[in-house]
Amino acid sequence: MIPFNIPAITGKETDYIKEAIALNHLSGDGIFTKKCSDWFESRLHVKRALMTTSCTHSLEMCAILADIGDGDEVIMPSFTFVSTANAFVLRGAKVVFVDIDPLTMNMDLKEVVRAITSKTKAIIPVHYAGNSCDMDKLMNIAEHYNLLVIEDAAQAIMSEYHNKPLGTIGHLGCISFHETKNLNCGEGGALLINDSRFIDRAEIIREKGTNRSKFYRGEVDKYSWVDIGSSYLMSELNAAFLYAQLINAETITYNRINNWNLYHELFHEYSLNDYIELPMIPTYNKPNGHMYYIKTTHLVERTELIQYLRANGVYSVFHYVPLHSSPLGRKYGFFSGEDQYTTRESERILRLPLFYGMSANDVKYISEMVNRYYKFVRSTS
Ligand SMILES: *Cc1c(COP(=O)(O)O)cnc(C)c1O
Repeated sequence: MIPFNIPAITGKETDYIKEAIALNHLSGDGIFTKKCSDWFESRLHVKRALMTTSCTHSLEMCAILADIGDGDEVIMPSFTFVSTANAFVLRGAKVVFVDIDPLTMNMDLKEVVRAITSKTKAIIPVHYAGNSCDMDKLMNIAEHYNLLVIEDAAQAIMSEYHNKPLGTIGHLGCISFHETKNLNCGEGGALLINDSRFIDRAEIIREKGTNRSKFYRGEVDKYSWVDIGSSYLMSELNAAFLYAQLINAETITYNRINNWNLYHELFHEYSLNDYIELPMIPTYNKPNGHMYYIKTTHLVERTELIQYLRANGVYSVFHYVPLHSSPLGRKYGFFSGEDQYTTRESERILRLPLFYGMSANDVKYISEMVNRYYKFVRSTS
């Protein structure tokens, strides 16, 4: 059986967790949390990186930082994970969903421009599969209309747009360390602050609305409740685990990209691109091998292929029921423009197993099974 995902483990995780235990500091903002933030600040040149409990919580912090209130509108793709929308709905926002470009599965920027109104506060690009939205274009649009850009870079660690790491280009960026992501600590996240006017307030929101961080740095002589907030700090145990992954970020990413490339080559060799659509990486994007997906002709074929793979020991999965057609999406949002691609493409996409340490033989076996399905099994009726 080849599972869809196995969380990455580098070997150092337990040593670092033992070190954290020996230091008698297990709550947030100890030595390992500092090491993780420093990694982002020195390696990715982020102004300030705050380690959080999840990407979902980083997005919630962004909604507070953006002062989202009742009736404000935020623009995002409908083809995304629920957290992208939930974080803003929790603050009273109306979510304006826009269509995707079928080639990249990312938000169509022409539709973004059309969706902007006097109530729009922020645009939330999602870098699907770790592939970048066209960030120069998007930042120009945002600047022209005076809007915030909050990158949902949950899947995008180590990916770059024109040599800039994803998550470091918008005013704010959110990263996930959920076990299904390239680098993980079970559950965890980071808030990347690229516009320094948000730094002080973000520290307060993350510390339950108190100015405790300033107190620990000796900048105030007592700490107090000064803003709304919650407990968004990553525990030291998770930070210790995560640090082992961050210092191996290149190795993990390189390994995933190799397997991604192998899938891609094999599907070309089998001429499977006559039957299915293969992913396309935009030229401005340096990818991170987060996900290998293919697109079947339609939903029925996809269901049949998932079953065929399962019967042959391979777990593949589909992705995202579009948010605008879900019960809560209908209640708190609406689709701007025409749903030309979101529903159609979401019914065709199929994700194949891809994880750190996956063997080339597994990739070969899976590709061969997909090949057999198309050449010998598929019902063409
Ligand atoms: C995984 C993911 C999230 C949520 O991340 P968590 O760390 O699990 O909260 C949000 N958005 C996208 C696009 C994701 O893929």
